[in-house]
Amino acid sequence: MADHLIALDQGTTSTRAIVFDSEGRIVASAQREHEQIFPRAGRVEHDATEIWTNTVWALENALESATLAATDIAGLGITNQRETVIVWDRRTGLPVHNALVWQDTRTQPAIDRLAGEHGDYARYAEITGLPLATYFSASKIAWILDRVPGARAGAEAGDLLFGTPDTWLVWNLTGGRRHVTDVSNASRTLLMDLRTLDWSDPMLEVFRIPRAMLPEIVPSSAVVGEIVDPAPLRGIPIAGILGDQQAATFGQAAFEAGESKNTYGTGNFLLVATGERIVHSQHGLITTVAYQREGEPARYAVEGSIAVTGSLVQWLRDNLGMFAESSDVQRLAESVDDNGGAYFVPAFSGLFAPYWRPDARGALVGLTRYVNKAHIARAALEATAFQSLDVIDAVVADTGRPLTEIRVDGGMTRNGLLMQFQADILGIPVVRPEVIETTALGAAYAAGLATGVWSGFDELRAHWHEGQRWEPRMDPGERDRRIRMWRKAVRRSFDWVDDDARVLMGTTE
Ligand code: ADP
Repeated sequence: MADHLIALDQGTTSTRAIVFDSEGRIVASAQREHEQIFPRAGRVEHDATEIWTNTVWALENALESATLAATDIAGLGITNQRETVIVWDRRTGLPVHNALVWQDTRTQPAIDRLAGEHGDYARYAEITGLPLATYFSASKIAWILDRVPGARAGAEAGDLLFGTPDTWLVWNLTGGRRHVTDVSNASRTLLMDLRTLDWSDPMLEVFRIPRAMLPEIVPSSAVVGEIVDPAPLRGIPIAGILGDQQAATFGQAAFEAGESKNTYGTGNFLLVATGERIVHSQHGLITTVAYQREGEPARYAVEGSIAVTGSLVQWLRDNLGMFAESSDVQRLAESVDDNGGAYFVPAFSGLFAPYWRPDARGALVGLTRYVNKAHIARAALEATAFQSLDVIDAVVADTGRPLTEIRVDGGMTRNGLLMQFQADILGIPVVRPEVIETTALGAAYAAGLATGVWSGFDELRAHWHEGQRWEPRMDPGERDRRIRMWRKAVRRSFDWVDDDARVLMGTTE
């Protein structure tokens, strides 16, 4: 009987497929990393063809190692890195440019022009829930249309198609039959009207993007097509699509207003569900679609997005050669008692929530002859906890309701030192579930609901089990002093990018 689900998690660093049984337990998985392409400062690209090849490999291998056949699988759920832009030719199936990744800041000058001389970055927040920022898809689509010869004409003729990775994968999985995205992904483009859940004509005009190239917007939990390729998975319904952070929220069973989760991956993303209500933040959070079940209204969330957390650990590993594996950071950081006075603000692509300062750049401050690499490793981990504090403070300011504990997931939550420091700095317990693959699990949940494997949210809630809990232990006076030091360091990172910096770094248009 088809009572298993397969989730495809197309992340920023890797693509993996996970087979779940009807209790939400992992049966088998397969994962492959793809190349991070950095053509110059501020540019981050992926090869979308490589991502598709890795997808085929991961799906086939996960199914094979589960020793299951396509007929055992009730549905496929897709979750993906959000905002990343792929434009391809529907006739050849080939991308016309590398994918422009969400971290890519090449379109900052265009964003600044749209914000106008008064720097009104919030001018489209009422429609889209988002500030004007390079982070979201729209300016990147426009960049491709303007820079790739013939792209604009091709897009207007309907020959070129746009998609975030979910769209690209569904298109390939269905042999080019379906060009769709779900509401949660569409809400990250700066092109969707949050109220109508349709592409917004005024926003399409602002960015000069032809409607003909945009995918159809579908619910997050609904059967939207059937796999044609790869052959071993043929016939499996594609039954769920969610952006990675919305999927993690779903996988943590945070379905109702007030429920929340914080994911610690390449970046950090705190989501707080607001139910059917669209809440516009006064404190730097963005408004996003959480999910939509077929035949129901969309549910919304406020989100605190932090660009650099786990990727700072990767940076210490790859750019400074401090250790061989990301997990080694804990041992190094534990070899000292504290940060030695060093604070690290990883504003590598400016600061996202709650500051939204594109002019900020990374700052390592408080240095003395005493500070060694272990202190820097510790400061890097602490930066993740402090940045999370900043977005949680924004949530509390917006909702007027303090959080009593926080559910966490993601690769960095394996780091016990970080989790304890997080509890200390927040002053509330930090709770990690047994299954930390919540992103893939959330995609499987969406697909399982749409195909009848699960009856509803109550059944899914019963799958959630506490794995580990960290209680706050730090003296409140010390905590407040450390927070004040952090905020001072954040201010040091502001006002760095100006015309001189742009010319010297070669990041002018
Ligand atoms: P994503 O889904 O964004 O690709 P993951 O949830 O897989 O990310 O988390 C990977 C991130 O976590 C990487 O940036 C890595 O550097 C970091 N990471 C992994 N293990 C640890 C650890 N033990 N301590 C700190 N950071 C870690």
